[in-house]
Amino acid sequence: MKILVTGGAGYIGSHTVRQLVRSGAEVTVLDSMIYGHPAAVEGSGAKLVKGDLGDASIVYPLLVREKFDAVVHFAAFIQVGESVQDPLKYYENNIAKPLTLLRAMLLAGTRKFVFSSTAATYGVPSQMPIPETEKQDPINPYGGSKLMLEKVCRDCEKAYGLKSVFLRYFNASGSAGDGTIGEDHDPETHLIPVILQAIKGERPGITVFGTDYDTPDGTCVRDYVHVDDLADAHLRALDYLMKGGKTECFNLGTGKGLSVKEIIDAAEKVTGKKAPVTYGERREGDPPYLIADATKARDILGWVPKYQDALQIVETAWQWANGPHGGHY
Ligand code: UDP
Repeated sequence: MKILVTGGAGYIGSHTVRQLVRSGAEVTVLDSMIYGHPAAVEGSGAKLVKGDLGDASIVYPLLVREKFDAVVHFAAFIQVGESVQDPLKYYENNIAKPLTLLRAMLLAGTRKFVFSSTAATYGVPSQMPIPETEKQDPINPYGGSKLMLEKVCRDCEKAYGLKSVFLRYFNASGSAGDGTIGEDHDPETHLIPVILQAIKGERPGITVFGTDYDTPDGTCVRDYVHVDDLADAHLRALDYLMKGGKTECFNLGTGKGLSVKEIIDAAEKVTGKKAPVTYGERREGDPPYLIADATKARDILGWVPKYQDALQIVETAWQWANGPHGGHY
């Protein structure tokens, strides 16, 4: 299989690239390198093309020349708060630019597309755990941009026969256990790396955003799913499309909820150190619970996450934080 991976130098993208190469696929990464890291791809066996997916002068010839069997599309901006402040940045990058990619796919005759969507497309869900049938009513431009691209892809199936899989991630976490690739966002806002950076003394501390939620310990509950399990779902989605599968969406989560306090406890156990914690106000746009019903991914893709335990997940994040890159490329 010849696969194009956009955003393959990013966090989930780089873990997926590794698994794809190991499975025998010929992989090309297209990454603007705005947030991607060359070191996340180096040594993986994938070819790296630096370029913007909205740049037709790069994307059209690449796709027409290479005639990929499928495109796995990660490249996107992902900060919820920034999307509220600068929605056009998100609509341009997460909707307008992928249109160029989709157009290039049509020109090249590539009609299989796996796309990183998100639990944020559900907004404030009416049921927990959340099945894919939950209404999609995002409460921020980030979630809105992802939902809009899902809609574009559904129209493209009807009009051009382009088949897509939308993978709606819950809380991606952890790293490849060998410590060589991992999560490195700038700025870093995600809970697990923030706690581990605080424990390492790289930041003054961690603030728990809200302790008065209607949850067992008052802090928000999320479904933390390991990045290698997410990567595995992409390979399964490709297999599903190769076998003639139609456009589908799948939630990717473990189905287990963990509170912010439980994650802090897990980090303290794994590291053997106390986290410098302060308790603060709620963060805008945080629903109390987000837990996946991932039954559909299990039934159709045969996807069962291997990491079911917070300690194991945090352990791999800690390996990355103490690996050859020290948690930063
Ligand atoms: N969180 C927190 N302090 C932080 C970062 C995150 O209390 O410094 C909380 C956040 O409010 C949410 C959970 O941890 O309830 C997971 O947040 P994260 O940003 O990792 O992922 P999100 O749920 O936004 O995708």
